[in-house]
Formats: sequence, structure tokens, C-alpha cells
Amino acid sequence: MSSEDGNGLTRRNLLKTGAAAAGAAALGGCLDDVPGLGTTDRSATPVANAETAFGNCWMCCHNCAQEVKVNDDTVVGITGVDGNPRGSAGPGTNGTLCPKGLAQLDKTHDPDRIKQPYIREDGELREATWDEAFEYTAERLREFDDEHGAETFLDAGSWAETPIFRTIWRDLYGTPERIGRGVHVCAGPTFVTGGMMGVGSNNRIPDYQNAEYLIMWGRNPLEAFAGQFEAKGILKAIEENDATLVTIDPQYTETAEKSDEWLPIEPRTDGALALAMAHVIIQEGRLDLEFVQEHTHGFEAYREAVADKTPEWAEEITGIDADKIREIARGFAEAAPAAGISIWTGTAQVSNGWKASQNITALNGLVGNIDRPGGLRLWKGTPTADPFEVCEWTPDDKGTDVTIGVDLPNNAAGKEPALHKYEEYGEYPFRHIEGIAHNLVPEMVENGHINGIYCHHDMPLKDGNAEAWLDALDEMDLVIAVDAYWNGVTRNADVVFADATQLEKDTMGTGSWSAYPEHQWVVGGKAAVEPQFNTKPDWEILTGIAEAMGWGEYFPWDDHEEFIDDQLQAVDLTLDELDSGEKNYELVGEYGYEQWRDEDGPAFSFDLDQVPPFVQAAEEAGMDTAPEWQPPGTYGDELDEEYPLEFYDIRSVFFSHGSDQGIDRCLDQFARKNELEDEDYRGNYLHLNPADAEPRGIETGDMVTIESETGEGELMAHVTETIKPGFVTAEYGFGEGSAQEDYEGMNTMKLHAKQMDPITGQPDRHVAVDVTGGD
Ligand code: SF4
Repeated sequence: MSSEDGNGLTRRNLLKTGAAAAGAAALGGCLDDVPGLGTTDRSATPVANAETAFGNCWMCCHNCAQEVKVNDDTVVGITGVDGNPRGSAGPGTNGTLCPKGLAQLDKTHDPDRIKQPYIREDGELREATWDEAFEYTAERLREFDDEHGAETFLDAGSWAETPIFRTIWRDLYGTPERIGRGVHVCAGPTFVTGGMMGVGSNNRIPDYQNAEYLIMWGRNPLEAFAGQFEAKGILKAIEENDATLVTIDPQYTETAEKSDEWLPIEPRTDGALALAMAHVIIQEGRLDLEFVQEHTHGFEAYREAVADKTPEWAEEITGIDADKIREIARGFAEAAPAAGISIWTGTAQVSNGWKASQNITALNGLVGNIDRPGGLRLWKGTPTADPFEVCEWTPDDKGTDVTIGVDLPNNAAGKEPALHKYEEYGEYPFRHIEGIAHNLVPEMVENGHINGIYCHHDMPLKDGNAEAWLDALDEMDLVIAVDAYWNGVTRNADVVFADATQLEKDTMGTGSWSAYPEHQWVVGGKAAVEPQFNTKPDWEILTGIAEAMGWGEYFPWDDHEEFIDDQLQAVDLTLDELDSGEKNYELVGEYGYEQWRDEDGPAFSFDLDQVPPFVQAAEEAGMDTAPEWQPPGTYGDELDEEYPLEFYDIRSVFFSHGSDQGIDRCLDQFARKNELEDEDYRGNYLHLNPADAEPRGIETGDMVTIESETGEGELMAHVTETIKPGFVTAEYGFGEGSAQEDYEGMNTMKLHAKQMDPITGQPDRHVAVDVTGGD
């Protein structure tokens, strides 16, 4: 695809409109006149007379700062904060919120929220007081420990704003069992290969603003971003550095539309393309020889692995023209080190995703862009103090020693996780580097090795086999849920705690990658409004449970603000200081490039033969330790006559995983984007190419059935040229178990069985399907 699309929109004439306007278009309306969004009584309240407060957006947990207008304890307006590390393009640039960030205005006062605690009695959930809920939970937890053992209780606390849930369940209750989003749900192969190869698990975020060549590999960061600085940084690099943007994706996405090149690759063949690019770079001597010789390990194995992986070989597999492969490889190498590749879920949520990630990451070592301006940054997070560790601080300008910290017991010590304890799990075709895969939990419940769960804003039904998870929740003896919305977990819980939303609690966040490539940062704010209805912030919920369990001594802080202040001592700040003035973020440190020069040993590893856990895992899985080509179907599904289409579930800028599918304005915007706003349907859509739709008699707006070997569901068809023939997609987080009141649409995990990456257990979201049912 050239830089001009069918609508005559080119990247260059996009730029004529200026970066701010381009950003607004790309971000799907982030710069809407926020006060005008209100269609309820709230919009009648004049924003001009409102007070200003700050928030810290957590809808997708990426910390874009919010400036909030509050009138009479009602949020009447919300927008971004200029210069915010995650919500802007950097100093002096406009801070915004994306559509789901803006939706916090709706969420805070949403009458569909869970408004008070609930307890299950005689099979039904009934309203309860907070005291009742805390006492009942403590009683059930004690009984559970007596009957099953605390070590069979699973902590699924991935979405909480406070980290103390780990303290409660691991250190105090004493369970070693935990599932989280990172390695097993999000992009395990990306994170873990990055860590093993020497570029860290943040290897997916290049130094956008200093780049001259950017490859978005299976990513669409102009719509599905980890903070808006990604989209804005890319647009800034194009505008200021005349950077080349390349998108490799079977879909024609927003990012593809703004790219110089769109490579519509065959799904699951990314690893072959990366090897062929390496072949070109090595054969033509375009590698950074000094970096490779002086600072890397395993180059010989890599060189051998790509020796016969010509662009012609890859053309057969990937469907990308061999000359185009040469052109992209040359462009990337010529721009290096100011050349960055971004990978994330697109290349990771695949059963051959480990090797795709390793092959793609290896390209960076080859051109020496590691931690150099415009390349693959070794981002540094902000150090905060751990209030659960006893330590002393001498703040620079205060001159007094401050001792903080609480001595915790370690009640999970010596308790072996079921995954390692029972031989049932040794037979799986995967060897986890750490922790439990979501897909495995239902079987552990069936085997009696997991008997209860604490679920904090986590919705495992959308990340593991949905039907099996629903059965597992039913089977478990104790389900404790903390959430703001009713969904598949809260509806099936024994105790439901009504959580306050982000604008109703004190928050503090730090991160690494941002619009400030040489700075660490911290962002936070005090609650903008009181908790609405009869809800409580998660801090108070967790400390309430702790108090009822007799663990009060471990939480000596008067409130969450005091706890945050203890964390902030490491950067000599308080929440009060952070929340005052014109903004609620601080840049707190500075660090330079080429940090690997400070380390002993190689900066980068092509071959992982020196990483013992991986050597064993690779041997058991039948993999090489060096980059290699693994065809689709090596572990995951293969297409056949019965199931001839390849399905993959995708993200939308309007929704944050499974948590806000119940917000009407987001659903309406989403329908409008798909030009289906006139339909009486607010679920997810099945996007398919006319070449697949026409033989099946399917037109846009038809309800169709999608079926895999193990499951099926119904959703509305959206026939579009933006999807490659043979490839069909739908947004995830909808349907059964979602936060939508009527579960409209389809839970895409109903199509899955147990496909997963053999090393990390990451669910493989590519499934062989067929689609039927045109009107
Ligand atoms: S990207 Fe959007 S949802 Fe995520 S933190 Fe920023 S504004 Fe909030």
C-alpha cells in the first residue's frame, strides 16, 4: 500500500492539518468539547463555576492525568493535563484523554454501577452493610482455610490501583497462587523474550519522538495505545523528523492509514518476515558490526539461522513481495540507530509468538539501536518506597531521618504452587516460566487444587476459556469480587464489594515509557469527588477485610493518602504537593542513553542458550534457543475445509478490556465508527472481507454465527475491505460475562479451547473458524 489510501488521504496531506488536529482525528475524538458531552442533568451545571481537581486515569491503567471540573460533588467536565508524560507529546503540548478516559465522567455517576456491598444468601445476592460484608468475608476466609487450606485460594488482582492486595493474600492469608495480566494474558512472549535478550520487558515502546524510522509490527497505536503519548509521539516524529512509518498487519488499521507502507502480512507469519529482513541486513553488510562484535552474544547461531531465509523464501510464507522485504530491511538499517520497532499483543497472542518475538527483537541487536536515541529505549521506572519494608529515608532538603515500614509475616513461604506440586500439570504442552495461565485455572478447580478466588477488576472470562471459567466460578467454594460493575464474576460471587471509581479515590502512578525519554515521573491526585452511592475506594475495602481478619496492626496508616505519602518519600514528594498547582505530575529524575555500557557482559543476546530456565523450556517444547522459523500450527490451530477462516480478537479505543462495555456513550461511538449506529445492536462486530462475505451471502448488519471446533456465538457482521481475505476479527470483552447488562454480542473466548504459547502459557487468540448465516 502506498502512502495514499482509497479516500485520497495521504500521510503528507494529513500533516498539513497540523499535529494537534491529526492527533484528534487519530485518537477517535479525544479532543471533543468535553463539557458538551454531557446529556444528563450534569451538563446543565456551568463548568465555568466549577472547582478544579485532578485525577489519574486508570481506565486502561496507563496514568494519563485528568483535570476534573467538579460542581457540588458532581463531575461536570474532564480533560487532559498539558505536558503529562502519558497523555501528551511532552513539554508544552496539549494533554488529552481518549474516549474511554473521557468515559470516566459517565462512569462516576452511572446508575448502573454496583452501589453497595452484597452477600450471597440462599443462592441469591442480597444487599449488605459494609460491616456485614467485612465480617462475613472474614468468617468465610477462616472456614476456607480450615477446610481447603489458604494455599488453594487464587488472587486475581490485576486491575487494582493499590498494590496492597498482594500483601493481604500472599503475605497475610498465605496463598502462593496468583494470576495477573502481564505474562499470561497480555503479551507474555514479548515481555519474556525482551527480558531474556537484554532489552527488558518494556522493549515494545521505542523512543518515538527521536525516531526516523518506525515499524508498528502487529500494532495499531493510533487507536489501541498504552497512553496517548504513543500516537502523539509517532505523529510528532513524522512531522519533526520526517520519519518513515511502516505498519505490518493483516488489517488496514488507523495506523496503517497514516503509514508510508502497509504490509498486509499473512497472519502468524511475522517470524518468517523478521528472519528474511535479518538475512538482507547481514548479507548486504548493513548491520552495526561494532555493536554486534563488542556487545552481543550468540550472533553466530543467528547468522546461521537466517543464512537461507531469503526474501523469496519469506514471500511464499508471508505474502509480502520479496523486493518490499528488501526495501523495508534497508530502510530500517539505514535509519538505525534512530529506528524503532514496536511489538505487543499482535505478535504475542499466537502459539508461535515466542519465536516471532525473538526473531523481531533480534533485528534491533543487529542494527545496534539498543538504548540509543530513536531506537529501542531501556526505559527506567520511578523508584518509590515500599511501605511494607522497614527502611530509613533522609530526604535531601528536610534533614531528618524518617523510618517507615511494617514488618510483615510471610505466610505463603514454603507453600508450593499447585502447578509445580501436582503431576497432572506436567503433561501440558507448555512449560511456564512463571505462574498459572488463565486457561489452566478451570482444570485446577476441577481437580480441587484451586477452591476459591479474589477477583479485583479482573475478568478472566474474557482471557481464558469462557464456558469453563463460568463452570469454575460456580464450582469454587468462595468467590470474592471487588468491582464497579456487574459482570460474569460479580454476578457469580459470594461477596461483592462496591468499588469507587478512579475519580473517587486518591491515586498515584509511575511508569517508565512516556513522552519524556530521559526522565522518570510520577503522577497522582486526591479524590475529585466523594465515593458515590454507598461505595468505597479499594484501599478501604482491603484494609476493612484486613481489620476483620485481625491484621489491623499491619496497616498503621490513617488513610490511603498517608500510605501514598510513604511511597512518595523516595522522590521527596507528598500527594498534597503532587496535587497542587497547574498539573499533577512531576518529572523526578533524569537518565541518559546507552545504559548497557554500565553493565558487565553483553548488552544483547540473539541466542538464549545462556538462560537456564529457557534452555530447559525450549528443549521440552522442541524449540531452538536461537531465532528460528516456526510455522503457524506448530502448536496452535490449522485451517481446514471445515474451519477455513482465521479468527483473531482485537482492541478498540472505546473500551478498556472488559471493564466499561456497559457505558452507553462508548457503545454508541463504537457503533458509529462501524457505521452501524442505526442498528438496534450494541455488541461487538464480526469484521470480514467481501471475498469471504459474498460467497456466504453475508452483508453488513446481518447477524451471523461464528463457530470453531469447540464453541460458537452470534454477532453482527461488518463487511469491510480493511480486513485481509481469510482473516476475520471481532473486539473482545463483550458478550457473556461482560459488563454489559444484557451481554449483547459474543464473548470471543467461547471460540477458544486451550491453545497457548508453549513457553509462557499466553493464550493463543488465533482460532480456526467458519462463519455462516447471511440473511
Ligand atoms: S490511554 Fe485513555 S484510558 Fe488509558 S489512561 Fe490514557 S486516557 Fe485513560
